[in-house]
Amino acid sequence: MEITFDLHTHSGYAGGASVGITDKKKRLRNRFLDASILSPLKGIDFLGTGDCQFKPWLEFLERNLEETANGVFQFNFLEGERQERLKELGIDIDITNFSEPKYLLQTEVIFTSPIGKSRKKAHVLILFPSFTEIHEFNALLDKWQVKHEKMARPFILNNSAEEVQSKIFQLKDLNNHIEIIPAHVMTPEGVYGGNNGANFLKEFFGEAEQEIFAVETGLSADPRILDMIPEMNTRAFISNADAHSSGLNKIGREFTSLKVNQQTYGSIIESIRKNRVTFTGELHPSEGRYFLSGHRDNRKQPFLHLKGQYCYFSPKQEPKSCPICKKPLTKGVLNRAYEIADIQGTKTKVPIRNYRNIVPLVEVIAHSLSLKSVKSKKVISIYTTIIQELENEVHLWQKSIEEIASLRIPEKTKREIIEVMKGNFSFLPPGHDGVYGKLAIGKKIDVENVHEVSI
Ligand SMILES: [Zn+2]
Ligand SMILES: [Zn+2]
Repeated sequence: MEITFDLHTHSGYAGGASVGITDKKKRLRNRFLDASILSPLKGIDFLGTGDCQFKPWLEFLERNLEETANGVFQFNFLEGERQERLKELGIDIDITNFSEPKYLLQTEVIFTSPIGKSRKKAHVLILFPSFTEIHEFNALLDKWQVKHEKMARPFILNNSAEEVQSKIFQLKDLNNHIEIIPAHVMTPEGVYGGNNGANFLKEFFGEAEQEIFAVETGLSADPRILDMIPEMNTRAFISNADAHSSGLNKIGREFTSLKVNQQTYGSIIESIRKNRVTFTGELHPSEGRYFLSGHRDNRKQPFLHLKGQYCYFSPKQEPKSCPICKKPLTKGVLNRAYEIADIQGTKTKVPIRNYRNIVPLVEVIAHSLSLKSVKSKKVISIYTTIIQELENEVHLWQKSIEEIASLRIPEKTKREIIEVMKGNFSFLPPGHDGVYGKLAIGKKIDVENVHEVSI
């Protein structure tokens, strides 16, 4: 059977702020409720809990989740709670037609280790088979003197790749089914990304590299870009939303479909390790904030970029420094991938990866209506019509153009959904130096041949 998951979420505690649990309680429950209610509309069957080792959140999860199959949990809703919350969100759908999502215990931590002369951070997803291992993991964090009492996404500091390796092995010794997945690997906070990224997984993870069976593509890369890197070719790619809030444009904005034997934790992990991924939905990499190398406009001192003056570069044209301010450019994901591919050299056989670049449906609808807010009544009403006809959003991206054409929604919205399905869209200007790309439907760019732009 096939399942669809989004295994990278956050509780609302992430970001490291110190937390007053009492005043946050209702908001956090609502956030979790929203994810539980909206993900079935998106077509997501399995969600990550986010931040599962963080004590206040761990308590919430232990109190509210029930194990319904091995390592798979469901949320204990109050009677009528789902429908009521959906109404509050302005969505007029009978929720009893949708099954409840299932949860896997998941968190994200930040390992640090020196690469060359500077300190490198790498965000890493961890999946746990049960609450027991989470408590054991917390004991390990104490032993490693990690400050995790106030950090939902703790920093695990290391002085060498051997130290990272030893800690990952200690974690795997708790239970070999604990899964370690490097997150958004090409972003500056991912293992390969930024100006001091690793050129090989081994440079950061040491021998524990052998325990890495899958990586998360992240919002600013897709399989085409990651497969340029030879050591990626033997690994599974999974896509997750990494949502810090639970809107319809956030939860499940990237997702993974996977073939499994059973809907249990063990079976899901086995399928990830064996790369039985059947499909991933990926945002267009040119939307990502670090897609191309460059400098954004209106940069503050000492960069001296005037408002309206910016530059970005494709790999073939990247100069040593910025022609406007002469400082080093902020390295883009695409250029970094070319760089690592060159360093790693010999290519292996690239597996077939079935994926599609997508735009969250509410964003396409809002764009087609020239509306800024994806939460506006009109957007939600069209969204509701589509979901009622097509079952969920994941299904939409796997439908034929004829099926979209027969939907009873405004013509312009229909046209724009079809353009996205055909891949006839891009982000202009593309994301660079921390700025998101801007959606342009009906325009396709050849990302490897974009020209320097300065206006
Ligand atoms: Zn992260
Ligand atoms: Zn500059």
